[in-house]
Order: sequence, then C-alpha cells, then structure tokens
Amino acid sequence: MFEGGKYIWKDGKLLKWEDATTHVLTHTLHYGVGVFEGIRCYETDEGPAVFRLKEHVKRLLESAKIFLMNVNYTVEELSDAILETIKANELKSCYIRPIIYYGYKSLGLAVDNNYPVETVIAAWSWGAYLGEEGLQNGIRVKTSSFNRFHVNTIATRAKACGNYITSVLAKREALMSGYDEALFLDPDGYVAEGSGENVFIIKDNVISTPPVTSILKGITRDSVMKIAKDLGYEVVERRFTRDEMYIADEAFFTGTAAEVTPIRELDGRVIGAGKRGPITEKIQSMFFDIVKGKVENYKNWLTLVK
Ligand code: PMP
Repeated sequence: MFEGGKYIWKDGKLLKWEDATTHVLTHTLHYGVGVFEGIRCYETDEGPAVFRLKEHVKRLLESAKIFLMNVNYTVEELSDAILETIKANELKSCYIRPIIYYGYKSLGLAVDNNYPVETVIAAWSWGAYLGEEGLQNGIRVKTSSFNRFHVNTIATRAKACGNYITSVLAKREALMSGYDEALFLDPDGYVAEGSGENVFIIKDNVISTPPVTSILKGITRDSVMKIAKDLGYEVVERRFTRDEMYIADEAFFTGTAAEVTPIRELDGRVIGAGKRGPITEKIQSMFFDIVKGKVENYKNWLTLVK
C-alpha cells in the first residue's frame, strides 16, 4: 500500500520513512484529537500537479482551529512542505496525508496551549481507492446501521481523526455484508455521505447532493458541483431519503481517494441501468481531464510540483 514512500516530513525535517515513529503514549492515539487531510497529486504534461492544494491546506488549518490546536505553520509553509515531500519521494502521482496531532506529555484529557503539537506529511502511490473496476462499472453500497453525527456530537466541519471511528466500523460492516462501501444516513434519517465520500444522485437530469450539515464539506464535492454546472446541469443541495436514492437514474460518490465513483446498487436495489450512468460518465471524464491538466480553464485548481 505504501508504494514509493521513502521520506516523511515531520516539523521541518525529512525523516526516513521507517524512522517516522511516535511514542505509544501520544495523546491522539488514545483520544483521537488530531486533524488530517487527504490530497492527490496527478501526473500532467507539465509534471506532477497537486489538485486544489490551497483548499486542502486551508481545511486542515480550519480543522485545527476548531480543536484549538496551535499550529506553527501558515497555509504557504504547509503547501511548500507538501511539495517538498512529493519531490523528496520522487513521486509522479500520489496520495498525500498531512496530519496534525497532540504528542507525548501526559494522558489527562486536559490539554492546553502548551501541549506539544506535531505536524507530519507523508506521500505514497495510491491507485483507485474503490478499484478501477468500480470507477468503470460502479460499486455496490449498503446503508449503514451506524448514523452520521448530530452536529452537536462532534465537530462536523473538521476532518478529525476521532470522527473516523464510525467510518471504520461502517466500512467493515459493509464489506462483511458483501458490499463495497457504506452509506450513512444523518441523525434524522436522510442520506448523508459514504464512509469517506460525499454522495450525489441524478433524477430527470437534476443533480442533488445533501447539504453540509453533518457531512464533511468535500473539496471533490465542490469541484464536481462546479463541473456539473459548467456542463449545463442543474445542481441542488437538498435533503433526500434513501428510497429516493433507490429510484434515482444515477448515483455516485466523490472524494479525494474515491475520485468520482459510480454507485450501481444500494441495499439490493439496482440504481438506473445498474452501471455507470451517462451523466456520471461525463462528469467523471471531465474530472479526470481536469486533474490531469487537460482543461485550460481549470488549471488554476492545479499546483505544479517544481
Ligand atoms: N466525507 C468523508 C467522511 C470523507 O472522509 C471524505 C474524504 N476526505 C469526503 C467526504 C470527501 O472529501 P474530499 O472530496 O475533500 O476528499
């Protein structure tokens, strides 16, 4: 899985991959208060380019702000460190994982502004998260028995480590039931998102996606909404139910790891024709052209690794 990983950036230094370790009593390991990002870098004709780098780094720092974590780096410094990490690992395309966590000091729940905060960036080659097959033909999804968070249970605007315990449970449950991915409902029973993806449905040419209440405000979600509008489709943010998804013409997931992955089945109900739908295909192919630097007016979403 960690193909290509040679160096890991830790607080200004590039450490050898195997030396980038931390103490077992590190605070975040016990209580989950840490924030992270998932970012992708793609191969383009002009060299490797990171997709929406600034937006990801901004979300990382906003996640840290929500948790009152003092980070000693600016958006520019972290963006430069990410580019430096990709270069050091000599990667043409990769997945990038920055994480900011509490280090080793004491294991009481009380943390203050003097508690050590560590920042790490790793990068490695990572292919299609839900498989090449999934990108082509769509995946099978099951509604999870676990719910997405109430907005006052956990900070839903933050991409925080602890938020992912339910995602890991839901993903495992879906796989154990013979499906590829889980779909979370929100606390009121409306469709929310996947274990690591945002979700879209299409009915009568109108594209709908849940509003950003209990879901992560995905950067791919934002990109796909812009792409779909530019392609002339109507895009609405609104609540919908899982039975509405059963009878949709098309459905797909979006995410940095998952990119644009069609959904061909939900809870045993075949969605549309049971394969990647035509509008999904258009959006997906535009998305891949954009990330590979082939569409001139979206090049501002790319940062070249130089
Ligand atoms: N929801 C969850 C729970 C996620 O983990 C992710 C992946 N970061 C997403 C949505 C999609 O967000 P993005 O497009 O910014 O990767």
